[in-house]
Amino acid sequence: MENENESLRRQLNLLLAKARENEEKLLRFERFEQQLMTTRTLTQLIIIMLQDFPAKFDLEVVNLILLDSEGEWAHSLGREDLISLGAMGLILGHDALDYSRYYSQPYRPYLAAYQAHQHLALFDGTVVPLGSIALLPLVRQGRIMGGLHLGSRDKQRFVTHDGTYFLERLSAFFVMCLENALIYDKLERFGLMDALTQVNNRHYFNLRLKEAISHALRHRAPLVAMMFDLDHFKTINDRWGHQIGDYVLQQVVQIMQSLLRRGDTFARYGGEEFVALLPGTDRSVAIDIAERIRLAIDNHRFSVGEPELIRLSVSIGVAQLELCETENSDDELARDLVAIADTALYRAKAQGRNRVEFDS
Ligand code: GH3
Ligand code: MG
Ligand code: MG
Repeated sequence: MENENESLRRQLNLLLAKARENEEKLLRFERFEQQLMTTRTLTQLIIIMLQDFPAKFDLEVVNLILLDSEGEWAHSLGREDLISLGAMGLILGHDALDYSRYYSQPYRPYLAAYQAHQHLALFDGTVVPLGSIALLPLVRQGRIMGGLHLGSRDKQRFVTHDGTYFLERLSAFFVMCLENALIYDKLERFGLMDALTQVNNRHYFNLRLKEAISHALRHRAPLVAMMFDLDHFKTINDRWGHQIGDYVLQQVVQIMQSLLRRGDTFARYGGEEFVALLPGTDRSVAIDIAERIRLAIDNHRFSVGEPELIRLSVSIGVAQLELCETENSDDELARDLVAIADTALYRAKAQGRNRVEFDS
C-alpha cells in the first residue's frame, strides 16, 4: 500500500512537471509568435528566424532555405540584404527537386540523429558538432516553399517519432509571416496602397481584375464587379470640411470591407469611388451583398462630435462577367466589366441614388 502510494505520487509529480514544462514552452512560443506578428519587413523577419529564434530556443544552428525559382525572394530582399542574411544562414534554392528527399509528402517535420553523410549538405559550414536535427518543410497551399533546418548539439533534442505539434505550428506560423512580409513588400514597392484609407488602390485593382478574369474563364466560375460612389459627398466636404470628409471616407471603407469576404478584392478607385471584385459569386448573391452594404451605410451615423451626426448613402452598380466563348483579350474583358458596372452605377444615380442597379 505504502509503495503503491509512493509510486502514484511520483507519477503525479512527473505529470505535473511535464505540464509545467509544456506551459512554459507554450508561453515562450506565444511571446515569440507575438514578436513575429508585429514584424513587417522581410529582412527583419528572416533575422528573427535566423538569430532570435535559435537564441531563444537554445539551438546551435538554424538555416533557412527559400525556394526561389521565380526570383521573387531575391528581388524583394535586394542584393545587400541577401549577402548579410546569407552569412546568417539564408539560402535561396532554385529547384524543389534538390530537397525532395528531405521533405517528402505528406509534409511533416523530420526529426533524427545527425548523420554527416546524409545531412552535411544542409548544415554545411557548421562548426559545432551536431547531435540531432529537425527539418521543417515550409508549405504554402500544399506546395513546398522552402525549409527551416534546426540543429542541436544535444542528441536527445530531436528524436524520430517524438511529437511535432510545436514544430508544425511554428512552421505554419513562419510560412504565414513570410508570405505576408512578401505581400506587404510588393504592395509598398509597387505603390498599390491608398494612403488615406489603407486599402488597395486602382492600380492594384486593375492588376487583380485581369488575373480574376482569366481565372474565371478558365474555371468557368462566376465573377462580379461592383462600383460604389458615395452620394452627394461634396456636400459633406462643403458643410464639415475636408478633414471630416476624410474621416468619413475611412469609416465608409471599414463598413464596406466588413461586409465583403476574405477572398474579395476591394479598392479605392479614386476620390469617393470604390470597387470590389467578388470571385465565385453569382448574380443573386452579389445583389444581396451590395444591398447589405447599401443598407449598412444608409443606417450608419457618422459621429463628428456631439450632438451632430452625419448621414450618408451610396449608389452601387453591379456587373457580372459573361462566361461565354470570346475573342476578346483579358484586357478588353476587364475594361468592359468595369464599364458595365459603371453604367449600372450611373443608372442608380439617375434613378434617385441610394440604390443598387445590376447590368450584365
Ligand atoms: P454624386 O456622386 O451623388 O453625384 O455627388 P458627389 O458630390 O459625390 O459627386 P462629385 O463627384 O461631384 O464629388 C465628389 C466629391 O468627393 C468631391 C471631392 O471633393 C470629394 N472627394 C474626393 N476625394 C476626396 C478625399 O480624399 N477626401 C475628401 N474629404 N473628399 C474627397
Ligand atoms: Mg464620384
Ligand atoms: Mg459621389
